[in-house]
Amino acid sequence: MAQGSAKIRIVHAEPLGHGARLLRVERDDGAALGFAGGQYVIINTGVTLPGGKLAKRAYSLISSDAEQRSVEIAVKRIGAGPGSNVLNDIAAGAELEWSGPWGKLRLPDGFSGRALVVATDTGITAALGVARGAAAAGAAQLDLLWLVESDDYFVSERFVRERLPERARLTVLGGFLPVGHPERPARACALVGELVAGVPYDAALCAGDGAVIYPLRDRLAALGAPEGSVLLESFFNNPLKKSA
Ligand SMILES: Cc1cc2nc3c(=O)[nH]c(=O)nc-3n(C[C@H](O)[C@H](O)[C@H](O)COP(=O)(O)OP(=O)(O)OC[C@H]3O[C@@H](n4cnc5c(N)ncnc54)[C@H](O)[C@@H]3O)c2cc1C
Repeated sequence: MAQGSAKIRIVHAEPLGHGARLLRVERDDGAALGFAGGQYVIINTGVTLPGGKLAKRAYSLISSDAEQRSVEIAVKRIGAGPGSNVLNDIAAGAELEWSGPWGKLRLPDGFSGRALVVATDTGITAALGVARGAAAAGAAQLDLLWLVESDDYFVSERFVRERLPERARLTVLGGFLPVGHPERPARACALVGELVAGVPYDAALCAGDGAVIYPLRDRLAALGAPEGSVLLESFFNNPLKKSA
């Protein structure tokens, strides 16, 4: 386990559609990361924000945790945001700092039950990490639902399908309401509720828009998810933070 800060090098970069990028990253010292599928790293982008703090941003690892030395992240450009712009423009070969791996969005080791993974928007990266992780290999069934505005929002459906293990079943709920739409949480709860009602899941993991996944957790609990069995990773609009 190599948790902590490290220098990393961007060893490969390629565009994903118009507004996102796939980056392959390795630690400078060649050490293994010790991450589990679903976890993320925090990258110091080197940009100083107006208040004087450095812009450090979280990115989930989308590669399989079978490979611990060379990992992939996918970064969507968010307006003029400092972190996502640096990572969309940085040259291959460049070096940055990161810390991690972090995060509790992961299936327990030895998991052998039925798992539901719900992603909204860019949260598909964490969902891919979970589905490709070693823990998912023992799952009896893994259902992945992705609520996303359109196929060119971020990574494409094809990109996701190409990387999913066979046993994972992906349902893309495309044409979903845009981020910030007031009806998003209710619509997500209705859509997901319809699809999973009556299915006994042993674990549920949700990643993406905090405005959606917190209400979704309540809905899944109302549908019978055992207490504590629904894990969340809010990428933005985190209701627990003053400013997300
Ligand atoms: C645990 C975790 C994992 C993450 N994994 C990824 C990932 O794999 N890929 C990825 O592209 N991003 C991911 N993010 C989001 C990422 O950390 C940054 O928030 C994002 O890149 C924007 O940073 P910025 O500095 O460019 O813009 P900022 O100025 O920091 O962001 C502007 C605003 O946009 C919000 N925002 C962030 N993402 C979105 C979005 N998709 N839609 C609408 N608003 C958004 C931010 O919360 C902020 O309020 C993750 C976030 C967390 C907490």
